Amino acid sequence: MNKRLPTMLVSAVLAMSLIACQQSENSQTTKTDAKNASEKSQQAMKKEMPKVEAEDLSYLIDEHSYANKDEVLLTHLDLDLEVLFDKKQLKGHVDLSFERLQSNAQQLILDTRDLTIDRVTSIDSDGNETDTQFVLADKDAVLGSKLTVELKDGEEKVRIYYNSNPQASGLQWLTPEQTAGKKEPFMFSQAQAIHARSFIPVQDSPDVRVTYKANIKTPKQLLAVMSAYNEPNTPLDGDYQFDMPQAIPPYLIAIGVGDLQFKSMGPRTGVYSEAAYLDSSAKEFEDTEQMIDITEAMYGPYLWGRYDLLILPPSFPFGGMENPRLSFITPTVIAGDKSLINLIAHELAHSWSGNLVTNATWRDLWLNEGFTSYVENRIMEELFDENRSEMENALSVQGLRQQVKSLPVGDTILHITLDGRDPDDAFSGVPYTKGQMFLVFLEQRFGRETFDKFLNQYFGDFAFKSLTTPEFEKYLDKHLIAKYPGKVTQAEIDEWLHSPMLPEFMPNPQSNAFIKVDAASADFISGKLALNDMVTDKWSIHEWLHFINNLPQDISLEKMAELDKAFDLTTTTNNEVAHAWLKLAINRGYGVVNQRLEDYLISIGRRKLIVPLYKALMDTKQGDFAKRVYAIARSGYHPLAQGTVDAIVNPAKPVSK
Ligand SMILES: [Zn+2]
Repeated sequence: MNKRLPTMLVSAVLAMSLIACQQSENSQTTKTDAKNASEKSQQAMKKEMPKVEAEDLSYLIDEHSYANKDEVLLTHLDLDLEVLFDKKQLKGHVDLSFERLQSNAQQLILDTRDLTIDRVTSIDSDGNETDTQFVLADKDAVLGSKLTVELKDGEEKVRIYYNSNPQASGLQWLTPEQTAGKKEPFMFSQAQAIHARSFIPVQDSPDVRVTYKANIKTPKQLLAVMSAYNEPNTPLDGDYQFDMPQAIPPYLIAIGVGDLQFKSMGPRTGVYSEAAYLDSSAKEFEDTEQMIDITEAMYGPYLWGRYDLLILPPSFPFGGMENPRLSFITPTVIAGDKSLINLIAHELAHSWSGNLVTNATWRDLWLNEGFTSYVENRIMEELFDENRSEMENALSVQGLRQQVKSLPVGDTILHITLDGRDPDDAFSGVPYTKGQMFLVFLEQRFGRETFDKFLNQYFGDFAFKSLTTPEFEKYLDKHLIAKYPGKVTQAEIDEWLHSPMLPEFMPNPQSNAFIKVDAASADFISGKLALNDMVTDKWSIHEWLHFINNLPQDISLEKMAELDKAFDLTTTTNNEVAHAWLKLAINRGYGVVNQRLEDYLISIGRRKLIVPLYKALMDTKQGDFAKRVYAIARSGYHPLAQGTVDAIVNPAKPVSK
């Protein structure tokens, strides 16, 4: 998914998907598939993870959760919540079913953040409740508050009465004015990395997997959707039921509530959206069904039933979030020409890498995002052609090379050390693109056929399980490196996974199309080529991005004005091209863009697009402009985006000891 880098460039953020087992003649098959997948997931959970022989087992510890998951493990949640827009609260109760891994365990330890806990009860097999002791600890700035519930002998279920609070880091509450339709409010969740605990008391670790059911009450005119089975023909009555039969980590529990409509795109795919984006998004993303077919042909069956998209308001801080069965998607990628739909390929790819096979801790994020970026690019190659996938790879690697220059050196290591930092800090181009290039490297060394077989087996062997980087290394060695000796050395693997910066031998994707763009650009800058003679009619968005990103950083204002006049770059409607142009304009002091820049920053809340612009403004001493615009824009941003931009525009003074 997304990322949060308080003071540095944020790279691509991605999304996910979701599936809803729907109606129609498919429903029988879908339900059977779901049941099989559910059984498979339950079996997988009970299987032992491979034993690791290393003496230092600290990598197995999830430092971002208080949960005592080795003693008592959550298995299922029953949520019963009301969505209170006036109070900005989710209020109700959750029943937590668990398994005792240690029969003498006396406590269930959960993660919470900013929750009000009213009462905790023990539920017996007849459904009778008796009050239970609990302790809510003081809040830790990163982890939130540990909730300790005393367990009774033989008890397997507790109920927690609670409500979230307006500052919940995982929820955004939008006023009607902040939506496209302007008539109804909107609320959506974003639980990755550790924000599920801000709206559900839960063992909030990616190493925990739960199934869930939910009853959600909303104002009658609004529709609720979740990362679960969504009934597309459900009556609009403010009372909605959901069932997620496949076990997922808590960071994939998701909810959206708004003035939503549904439009089908294919037998397994559709979009939920406000009316304003319904037709345009269904058209833009109409290839989603084909993307599923393509991925299944490469990596095995899609195990989640339906795959739908929820189009969020522009304030969604990420590109997308791979909530299973229902990816949450930014509207900023509805470009009208499918130029940015690799985001959909990315979120869909998470249905294999991330949602099915999951990083066990946030130190292992590259296992989610590197694999997903790799699969995303393979989907784009199949759906379009190699030109398209090469251009997208080349752009990603350019971005990565740029970004690693400003990252703390430790953050350029794939198996990152977080040492108590917020796991949102792990999101950068490193887990995405460096992780992807590691897999491209393996593909090149072993050949695509062999590597695809390996990936297929990997997705099968670890389906509905979580794993750490050292566990992956062991698996990689057994099933690829040692099996085909002489292709890759251990030193190379170590450098990829445990060394900072980028290996010298990292693949360097090239695009023939970009070579031509570079030649035209050089001739324009040197004065050899007039813009009138530059043939750009057939340039794709990717070629434009490459062109703008690679213009000299000291380009003259005259040349910028010339480009702007010829190509209307300041007024482009493509949000990525606009971002690239605005960033260059800020760095060069090309003030012509200022009104457009202000409108852009106020209308969009996607961090990847806005954070580098605020940073560039601050770096170029245009802080007054940044502060003035941010004062207007801030209330429309998600809490995560607010946190990131706050740190840039109003950096906290260092605390003196
Ligand atoms: Zn992702």
